[in-house]
Amino acid sequence: MEPLRWAQRSGLPDGFLNASLRDIPDLFPDPTLVYLHGRGPAVFVSILLHGNEDAGLLAVQDLLRRYPQGQLPRALTLFIGNVEACRSQARFLPHQVDFNRAWPGSETETTPVHLMLEEVCEHVLDEGLFASIDIHNNTGRNPIYGCICSCAPQHVYLASLFSPRIIYFIRPKGVQTQAFMHHCPSLTCECGRPGDKVAARAAADLIDRLLNMDSLERPDHLADDIEVYHTVARIQVRDGYSFGFEPGCDIIFRRDLDALNFVQLPPGEQLGSLSPRMLQTQIEECFLVHDEHGRDVTSDYLTRRDGSVVFQRETMPSMLTRDINVIRQDCLGYLMERFPLQGNRV
Ligand SMILES: [Zn+2]
Repeated sequence: MEPLRWAQRSGLPDGFLNASLRDIPDLFPDPTLVYLHGRGPAVFVSILLHGNEDAGLLAVQDLLRRYPQGQLPRALTLFIGNVEACRSQARFLPHQVDFNRAWPGSETETTPVHLMLEEVCEHVLDEGLFASIDIHNNTGRNPIYGCICSCAPQHVYLASLFSPRIIYFIRPKGVQTQAFMHHCPSLTCECGRPGDKVAARAAADLIDRLLNMDSLERPDHLADDIEVYHTVARIQVRDGYSFGFEPGCDIIFRRDLDALNFVQLPPGEQLGSLSPRMLQTQIEECFLVHDEHGRDVTSDYLTRRDGSVVFQRETMPSMLTRDINVIRQDCLGYLMERFPLQGNRV
């Protein structure tokens, strides 16, 4: 098996600063590693691992407009990921695998994309790295937040420079942040929904700061408002029932579902309701909640109270979405718990 074809170049093509997702395959026919010169070690930034998420593109455009002469204070290595999926603005295409599940450490079956990302990793690490950033959007209404795969101090500190909201996760494997965490401080920036320029600017601000910092040596104390959460469960809706946000469905979710993201919810908080014809239906027949070890923990987190579906215990959701396709194909959202850092001292 051969790696997927990919390219390397020094400097960006003309037109990059004003390109939209649809223009990307014309500028970069293959996934491309771009070297922008400055002093080392370099900041590594991957963008467009998902072809429908423009946050990384917007962030890099915003950043580079701040340096019209083109001379960066520190080297910046960019990886432009799933260029083919950008044209149709898809996360990935039917014949492809997810580009953010195929980095070294992946648990999925080896494909040409896996082999390509292994080569990309080797080239990027050859340069020596100051920090690694991977930029994404998500589908629900979420504030900006950072994701780390290790709670070691340098990763928490890097994340705190982006947002006080930090999620620590160990699955899924094969994500960029996990592949680089052994080599430098590594972070995933979640920048709200596609097209959110304010959220993308926060990622640009972070990269700009990294380009101008001399060291990522941490302070003794992190800012007081930092909260690290870890994902404890994933909620799916079982097949066989209709669901949505309007009366008439078997499962009717509350309309402001995604306003619950990053809100600490008390036991009894409502997630939605069941139609009267579902009165005999058990909650486990409608929902499947898995913990991070794959165990069914539905009844630990959800219960029904008369016609309502409510949380059984205190919890904090993230990535709850109102996108029916995402709910059906992926999941409704995740539940988190506070992860203890010793008195914020790291
Ligand atoms: Zn993504």
